[in-house]
Amino acid sequence: MCSICGCSEGAPSTEPTHAQGAHANGHRHAHDHGHHLDHVHTGQDVHHSHRRQHHRHRDHGRQQAHGGPGLVDCAADPAGLKVAGMSSERVIRVGRDILGKNVRIAADNRAKFLADDMLVFNLVSSPGAGKTSLLVRAVCELKRSWPLGVIEGDQQTSNDAERIRATGVPAIQINTGKGCHLDAAMVSEAYRRLPPFKRGILFIENVGNLVCPAAFDLGEACKIVVLSTTEGEDKPLKYPEMFAASSLMLINKIDLARLVDFDLGRTVEYARRVNPGIEVLTVSARTGEGLAALYAWIGKQAADQTHPVAGTTP
Ligand code: MG
Ligand code: ZN
Repeated sequence: MCSICGCSEGAPSTEPTHAQGAHANGHRHAHDHGHHLDHVHTGQDVHHSHRRQHHRHRDHGRQQAHGGPGLVDCAADPAGLKVAGMSSERVIRVGRDILGKNVRIAADNRAKFLADDMLVFNLVSSPGAGKTSLLVRAVCELKRSWPLGVIEGDQQTSNDAERIRATGVPAIQINTGKGCHLDAAMVSEAYRRLPPFKRGILFIENVGNLVCPAAFDLGEACKIVVLSTTEGEDKPLKYPEMFAASSLMLINKIDLARLVDFDLGRTVEYARRVNPGIEVLTVSARTGEGLAALYAWIGKQAADQTHPVAGTTP
């Protein structure tokens, strides 16, 4: 089934597993091995690129329980789900099981985050949009006001977690192997490994991918999609699921907008075509332009949260 996208080949792991190397390459897992000491095994073995997500996190953006069936309608395009040796019906059923399981774990995560008074953001983008650079800059500022933690998702390396830790903020790296998104079980395990803290902010930087992270609830308060000016204006139309699932679109590298003839108005229009309620901020992780407004937005999310987060807006 991995032939659809390779999404579950290899073994997702949290640090320090990457140093152990045993599962680094080509190690296939079938289903639900459960946990052993340093690994998160997800048992994902079907992909979902043709599924349509029915739930939305935008607007409410609060930590609330999600649940119930029918989050993903694989039947929207069953013809796209062809797997050797398996009927479309079975592929669809397995896909529903995987996402159903993810929904349950995400609900557990959300309850845990709520109990800990944590405000949790799920950052998504294509690779290279600047999520980590934005985070590095933001945590340096926000750590003055809140306890912070970061969970980093990448296929390989702990480079991003190291960049965060260099700021003094704790970070856990998840390596997804050949997987192309984080799921709720990985986040649960990584959160358990973070130094315990409460009444703070947790940033989850998802794997750079504008497709399937849209379908996987991690228990976050909301998704923030980062789009850089160098990517062009039509990403929201090409990847509508992600922009529809996000509460905020951060347009990064705004300092380069003129150089690359970026059309801000058109980009916002496209994003609102797929998500009329999406909020938009323009920022530059390089120059710091627009970041004060981002911090204010984060402060507002904290204030709006049912269980207010301690601290004040920087
Ligand atoms: Mg990154
Ligand atoms: Zn994926």
